[in-house]
Order: sequence, then structure tokens, then C-alpha cells
Amino acid sequence: MRNPDDVSPHTANAHHAACCDPVFNWQDRQDFDFASRGLVHRPNDPDIRDQDGNIVWHHEQFEAFLKGDAPETVHPSLWRHALLNNFRGLFKVCDGVWQVRGESLANATFIETVAGYICIDPLTTVETARYALKLLYDHVGERPIVGMIYSHTHSDHFGGVKGMITDEDVAEGRCVVVASDGFTEWVLKEQGMAAEGMPSRNDYMYGENLEVSTTGIVDTGLGQMIEGGEVTYIEPTHVIGKEGGKMTIDGVEIEFMFAPGESPTGMHCNFPQHKLLHCADNCYMCLHNVYTIRGAFPRDAMQWADSVARSLQFENTEYLVSGHNWPVFGKENIKKFLGEQRDGIKFMHDQTLRMMSHGFVPSEIANEIKFPPSLARLWHLRGYYGSLKHNVRGIYDYYLGWYDGNPATLDALPPRELARRTLDYMGGVDAVLERAKVDFEASDYRWVVHILDHVIWAEPDNMKARQLAAAAHTQMGYGAENPTWRNAYLSAANELRFGLPHGEKNHRVLRDVLKGMSPLLLMNSLSIRLNGSKAADRAFVINWQISGTSEACHTELSNAVLNNRNGLDPSADLTIRLPRLMLSEFALGQIGVDGIAGIDVSMSGEKSVLSDLADLLDTFPAWFPIATHGLKFGETDQ
Ligand SMILES: [Zn+2]
Repeated sequence: MRNPDDVSPHTANAHHAACCDPVFNWQDRQDFDFASRGLVHRPNDPDIRDQDGNIVWHHEQFEAFLKGDAPETVHPSLWRHALLNNFRGLFKVCDGVWQVRGESLANATFIETVAGYICIDPLTTVETARYALKLLYDHVGERPIVGMIYSHTHSDHFGGVKGMITDEDVAEGRCVVVASDGFTEWVLKEQGMAAEGMPSRNDYMYGENLEVSTTGIVDTGLGQMIEGGEVTYIEPTHVIGKEGGKMTIDGVEIEFMFAPGESPTGMHCNFPQHKLLHCADNCYMCLHNVYTIRGAFPRDAMQWADSVARSLQFENTEYLVSGHNWPVFGKENIKKFLGEQRDGIKFMHDQTLRMMSHGFVPSEIANEIKFPPSLARLWHLRGYYGSLKHNVRGIYDYYLGWYDGNPATLDALPPRELARRTLDYMGGVDAVLERAKVDFEASDYRWVVHILDHVIWAEPDNMKARQLAAAAHTQMGYGAENPTWRNAYLSAANELRFGLPHGEKNHRVLRDVLKGMSPLLLMNSLSIRLNGSKAADRAFVINWQISGTSEACHTELSNAVLNNRNGLDPSADLTIRLPRLMLSEFALGQIGVDGIAGIDVSMSGEKSVLSDLADLLDTFPAWFPIATHGLKFGETDQ
């Protein structure tokens, strides 16, 4: 077999074919004009680092290879998009409006006011936010941030807030923080319960354990990658309701439009004095992501299409910016772009429902659906983030859930048993491996990873199967136009070859988001750690009170369930008073019972109940296997 990282003739041929495919208009250079227009300064620091010297954002490593024609290891269409995302630095969008792009996964947009700036979206982490603000100060002028607007609830749009403003700026009225109704609640829902508990899935999608190189991560669609560093949060001081609203911040008029789509509380901001519209993450230079493969509930595609359609009401818009990628310039271009974005998402929605109503199941729809040529050839609807294939499954799931309606799938055997028995019917693992090698040589990669997945479920340590599956994933990664798919395939190849990542996890630290949680919400996140089997037949009640406040809740264990309710229970077995941070660290498994100590801590009642509770809680691993299917607790290697 060739070196597993070499490009196969099949992948190379597919890339050559893409270069001649009429769906791609390589002569259309408008995006290169828009992405580079108004450059004020492109920094030449090799990278951005945190205070401990860790790299949180790469410049040099991307620049080492992002030039010229596509290498054979990257789909030419993805390469074009990666070149466009590499236009980075400080840009002037129009008089009084600036953007820092390409210095984070997201964009920061600044609008000059009489005495300062309004910022829309302070990036993902404090480190990149500070860097962006310094670029603005060095090249435009140092003036305070007097308004902070969060376009929606995803952390790449608020996490860097304390790199630009402080709690004191807000408390003392020097800066207003504006977001849509329900913002904090949705931040907690989207970042609290499930999302951050699944770093393995996140790492696959964003390629966080891949090298920055032409055989690793080259782009992530919305931007080059996600930065590391500290994620912070300051609660909004001004809430915009579903009916929208108008506001003037230090001389700048803003019209807010409630715009659910990529997030349930998205908000578009129109600046009539500047003829500028910011459309959150509802439009960017990639196909919408109705379902995100890191894992999240599917988004409401119909609402999303409507939010884009309603944005056409701002018909004087000359400058359209959003949370990612580059702007659209010119009234006619914007009208056309918004109409096409609207139609892209509505097409996926309507056609999925049409096919669903004929009885097609999700995998059939995913393999069947195609954009009409008029939409397929639009660069901004190419699948650089969402993809037609995974979006239509998300839309199906949004309406009908996971079940495809077929009773044969209603109570399927678990994957390991299914794999072992299927392989037995097929003549055993060795026979399957022999045929898989032939199919690999014939470049039938989708089939090879499917059938070898059964082998790896049956025999997680079968290195022959893992190496061959890794080779097939690598070719699929090189062949993928969608960078999140590429990242996922190449991450799978790594896990299959080398196992799970080792060492410290280079991940974003969510600090303030948890600090803002009420005791009840913290206990709800602790409840998902209760090991149901261990907790059977146990019962007790614990009161939790935040030191120095009246905030309290109680937790009752019965039927292997922790029920949490606000207030204190007078008949509790134990009452604990402790600082909020300590409670959040305990709830999230960052400290154990030993960590609940200090002058701010007091306990009354039966203290052993706390250890009893701690013994019943699971601690989640930094990474769990995705491609290698290692045995989970309770399973035996038969
Ligand atoms: Zn975003």
C-alpha cells in the first residue's frame, strides 16, 4: 500500500475534474475584491499568545502554505475559500465603520460614535479581543467602547467581551451591553448543559487536534479555526424584544431586528446613517449550518429563511457585514445576495419536507437532494460550513426526530453486537478485511469506512482495520470540499492511528458563563453526572446556599434522580453554605468534596451526605473515543 498520507490517483483526479466543472466559476473574482477591500493594516506578528505564552491564534503557520494553486491534498474549491479567509487584519468598511477579520473565528465590527465606538461581537476569547481592539486603537484612534452589541448567543460572538470592556465600565454606565430577549438563558442552554461536555465532537469538527498544514487543518469555513484562550461574559444591560426596536448610542442610530436563525435569539442591526446592515450569523459566505456536526439541536430553517427575507426591508443598505467572512458591497449586490441566501435555505427546507412526505428517509434525502444549477454555482452557498447532506438530515430531525418511521430500526441492536453478528454472517473479520482492501484500492472510500466501522466496533484493537480505515478517512478528508467534514475525517484518521490525544487539553476556558449560573442551574448541571445504577435505593436532601446571599436551592435524591428546587428544605439532611464559584466547580466536577472548604464554607447536619453524593457522581473524560469504539464501562471484550 502507498504511504497512507499520499493522495490517491482517485482523489487527485477528482480535484482535477473540479477545476473543469462548470459549476465553479473560477473567473469570478468579486469575493477577492470584497475580502481585501479597505485593508488598513495586516499585522505580521507570527501569532497571538495568551499570558502564559501559549499560541491562541496562528498567522505564520497558515501563511507558510496559503498561496498559489491548491495542493493535491485540498479540494480546489475549499482552497479558494481558505485563501479568502486568509485576508486578515483591520479593514475600513465605510466611513466610520471598521472590522477586524481573520484574527479570530469571528469578526469584530466597530462603529464610530461621537466620543467612542460601538462594537458588534467581541470575538471568542479575551486574548483575540484585546488584539483586535489594539489594532483599532493603533490605526484609527484610542476611544472608549460605549456600546457593546451581541449579535447572537454563540460564544464566538461574546466570549472576548472582557478583552474590550470591564464589569466596572458597565456598572458605572460607561458602556451599554445590548442583546436580544432571552439571551442569557440561551447562552446557558447552548453552552452549559451539553455543548461543552462534548469536546471530542467539537475537536473533530473544528480540527483542534490537527496540524495547521496542507495535510491537516486549512480552514473551518467561518474562519481559519477557533482560537484558544479565556471565554468571558457580561450580561446585557439592554434587552431588545421580539418586536425589535430602535436605539441611539452616543449619536449613532440603530434599528434592531429580532432574527432567529443560526441561533434562536439572533439579532440584525441596521445603521441607517451608515447604510450598514449587520446580519449576525444568518448570512455568511458559506452554506447555512442548519445542523452543526459538533452536535446541537437542529435550527429552525423556516424561521431562518424568514429572518433573511425580512432583512431585504432595509433597502438602502450599501454595506452588508456579518459575524464571519467578508462583507458584500453595493445595494444591488446585497439585494441579490440576501435573496440567494434566503432561497438556499428555503430550498433545503421545502425539498426536505417534500421528499419526507413521499416517504424518503433521511439518508435517502441526503443522497438525493441537489441544488438547482442557479444556486449550486453560487460561491456563498457552497458547503463550506453547512452542507446540503447534513442540513437536510437536520431539517428532517427538526420535524420528525431521530426515528425514520421504520419499525425495523425502532429497537436496533447496539452497535457492537450488531457488528459482531453481521461480520459473522459475512464470513468473519479476516474475510471482510480482504475485501475492504480491494475496495480501498478501487477508491470506494465511503463503503470502506462504513464496513470497517463494523470491524472496529467488533474489534476496537484490530490495527489492520484501523490503519486501512484511517487511510480511507484521509482520502475523504483530502477530497472534501467542506472543511468541517475534512477536519472530521482527518481527526478520525488520527484517532484510528494513534488513539485519543494525550496531555493537557488546549481548550477554551469558560469562566464567567458558569459564574452567572444560579444555584438551581448549577445543580441541574450536576444532576447529569449522577450515576443512575449506583444511586438506586439511595435517598437524601441537601440544601445549597451561596455565602453572603439569600440565593439557595435544595437537591433531593430519590429514584436515582436528583430533583432540584429553589429555596431551602427545612427537613434537609445537610445544609451547606459556600461561594458560588466553589459550587460551580463542584457541580462541574472540577473539585471534589475536599475542595469544599475554607472560611466562606459552613455545614450543618449530616456531613457524610456530601461524600455520599460525591461518590455517586461520574467524572467525564477530556476525550472519549469517536472512531475507535473502545470498550465503555460495563462492556466486556467477550
Ligand atoms: Zn459565529
